[in-house]
Amino acid sequence: MKDYILINGTVYDPETRRLEKRDIAVSGGVIADARTVADKPGTEVFDLREAVITPGLIDMHCHIYPMCGVMDKTRTLPTIDGEAHMFSNGVTTAVDAGTCGCRDFFDFKERFIDHSKLRILAFVNIAYGGMADLATELEPENFFPDTAAAIAREIPEVVGIKTAHYHVGRPFDERHPAWASVEAAVTAGELAAKPVMADVQPYLPGRSYEELILKKLRSGDIHTHVYAQQFPILDKKGKVQDFMWQARKRGVVFDLGHGAGSFWFRNAVPAFDQGFCPDTLSTDLYLDNINGPVFGLLNVMSKYLNIGMPLEEVLYRTTARPAEILGRKELASIKPGSTADLAVLNIREGKFGFSDSGHARMDGDKMLECSLTIRNGEIVYNPMALGMPDWKNAPQSYWKAPGVIKL
Ligand SMILES: [Zn+2]
Repeated sequence: MKDYILINGTVYDPETRRLEKRDIAVSGGVIADARTVADKPGTEVFDLREAVITPGLIDMHCHIYPMCGVMDKTRTLPTIDGEAHMFSNGVTTAVDAGTCGCRDFFDFKERFIDHSKLRILAFVNIAYGGMADLATELEPENFFPDTAAAIAREIPEVVGIKTAHYHVGRPFDERHPAWASVEAAVTAGELAAKPVMADVQPYLPGRSYEELILKKLRSGDIHTHVYAQQFPILDKKGKVQDFMWQARKRGVVFDLGHGAGSFWFRNAVPAFDQGFCPDTLSTDLYLDNINGPVFGLLNVMSKYLNIGMPLEEVLYRTTARPAEILGRKELASIKPGSTADLAVLNIREGKFGFSDSGHARMDGDKMLECSLTIRNGEIVYNPMALGMPDWKNAPQSYWKAPGVIKL
């Protein structure tokens, strides 16, 4: 494993939530003191004077476990390849939001989580088949709080319980109480001492959004898709509803969860202008939205940069804040000794357009792009060929890059 020192960049420190000019070093897979690494023979030096260096980004909501042919039997649906789709966005920790229930969780762990260079964490679905077997999300007989909680306690990569899609295609009745999935998820969350992430369609008879965020969810629980068209976060005059502020005050967390259908500028921008920001920016990435309107976490972050959120706040909501909500503060650390997960970002300036999930466009002049991702001390994404010698000087066989390589 090589040692690296990244010099002259602007570093985002999640402890101070500030950007500052400083060097940062990686040695033996962990963050190291730049002064001690600088003199070590063989250390690679990257001059990153135009770049911002941040702890590796955390995508709080995506879908990785395969949903093979269950929702649409004509094709394989539609989750992402974690490493292929996340490292290029500077993401080193991806959180699968309930694709998998307790029935398949060991398969998820053994075939994907344990073999991925990307750190994969997950909310286990309260329905035993998860979204991979969507029909199980509709029937309370498939909710097993004890088993979900046991998995959440025993498997270190499980960060909470997910409930979603308990609404499709039929009214509530005695066998299908309106809050069955949320209540089962909260029971599991209490047993496991972990948060619940809820994707709940509001305003079906017997179930309102206010009740979800003011009564059903606990402090630390997460409502995802907060800026979707269907959530009445603004009143008829466009003012952020009082119950949103009340819910935030009682500790409910609001996740963006962009997705193909869940982020509307028409809700998000007026809310931002009134000071109501998402706790976490996340993609809800799956294959059907990866070519738009989501593209990846950097596109979601760029939307907020152009809406007017300062870069420090955009980075806070994709590093320190999700780490805190997940109870894993160490995931967003650049202290010496921390796991070396880093992303190097550049801000392009020009004319750009951004799309939401409601076929609307926002113009902007800034776009984030990733020029290097380091995961666990290893370079895993390197589109600028940093550290490599010019091909004219490269030896025919083994080569090693000397000196400072400028970005
Ligand atoms: Zn999702």
